[in-house]
Amino acid sequence: ERMMEIRRQNCNPMTMKVTYYKKPVYIHQGHMQWLWDVDGRRYLDLFAGVATVSVGHCHPKVTSAAEKQLRKLWHTTNIYVYSPLHEYTEKLAATLPDPLKVIYLTNSGSEANDLAMLMARLHTGNFDVITLRGSYHGGSPHTMGLTSNAAYKYPVASGLGCHNTMCPDVFAGPWGGSNCRDSPIQTIRDCSCPQGSCTANDKYIGQLNEVFATSVPSRIAAFFAEPIMGVGGAVQYPKNFLKDTYKLVRERGGVCIADEVQTGFGRTGSHFWGFQGHDVIPDMVTMAKGIANGFPMGAVVTTPEVAASFAKGVHFNTFGGNPVACAIASSVLDTMEEDGTQQISHNVGTYLLTELAKMRDKYEIIGDVRGKGLQIGVEMVKDKASRKPLPPAAMSEIFEDTKDMGVLIGKGGVYGQVREYMDR
Ligand code: PMP
Repeated sequence: ERMMEIRRQNCNPMTMKVTYYKKPVYIHQGHMQWLWDVDGRRYLDLFAGVATVSVGHCHPKVTSAAEKQLRKLWHTTNIYVYSPLHEYTEKLAATLPDPLKVIYLTNSGSEANDLAMLMARLHTGNFDVITLRGSYHGGSPHTMGLTSNAAYKYPVASGLGCHNTMCPDVFAGPWGGSNCRDSPIQTIRDCSCPQGSCTANDKYIGQLNEVFATSVPSRIAAFFAEPIMGVGGAVQYPKNFLKDTYKLVRERGGVCIADEVQTGFGRTGSHFWGFQGHDVIPDMVTMAKGIANGFPMGAVVTTPEVAASFAKGVHFNTFGGNPVACAIASSVLDTMEEDGTQQISHNVGTYLLTELAKMRDKYEIIGDVRGKGLQIGVEMVKDKASRKPLPPAAMSEIFEDTKDMGVLIGKGGVYGQVREYMDR
């Protein structure tokens, strides 16, 4: 064990953090919702590989689709035509409403958001991008600019505090500036309305208008938002918030982008795509994580109109649309239908939300329980009255204790105070 830790420290960059500080979990094997460590201890994986393993670890059907494709063809690039690519894109397009039909395949969520930002700028001829306070949209230098959560930003690359650089550093409305921890502006997270009943939309839209009036140019390229904020701490918006924001953004020449990296593929239970719960149709949808059950893949889906603006240049991606990734992703969609994954998200999520809400009423350190389907966050606080975040040391103890009980969970929230349950 000590040797493993030394090897990890020697070869892995310091920026990679393991969750469990007392003793990291050395994962050895996975099957469906279970993981086993090198000592044969079994864990219920509620974090699902950071919201990624959408139909279960090593799902037999998906594994056999991967094996079959591995024996046939690993790689060519998309300068050739091959059937796994077309079979998959047809299947994926069928899950989305018109006019979202043109698909670009990438290898990660960051890459998908990078590409979406480029396409938005080319299509609109505008530069500035608006994202929400507390948001996470990726770790590449450009998407780091979209990410508002200061914990994930590097000042040099991500344009922290700099405007009009290659990185958009414009964050809107109720979410304040780039360093959201210091922002005096109230956040949606701070809203104390019971889940789903917030009527503060006018207030947030008012603040958004103020930002448009004071700090954002009259024309913008894009607005990025997750249908439910994931890394931000399972934050849900007031009813009509996305709908009203889309309208404002489009009036200013921008396109609206739904980042479905976490919310997509039935995770929210009631709909296959998170945006469908908001009565909007985005101009672009970006996705990754659950798309291929943990195999590296991402996608941007857009309209023929936006795609036409992008077609003026050459777009090349060596691995995007890799045949093995496509075969796996295709099998994931089939498996979701056969296993009723979205319905499971809905049923288990509803049960979990009900039971966790009972715990919230009972325990002083649970400030809020929120989310939808199996995108659920439990906000841990010092006490209910102050709703101050539970200090990091106490959060770490919760992680250690749940691990000892054989349960793996995740952490989100602007202050890292939201335990996340994302297993299906
Ligand atoms: N968007 C969202 C909403 C995410 O949660 C993440 C990853 N946590 C990303 C984009 C970036 O995806 P990736 O890590 O695959 O680059």
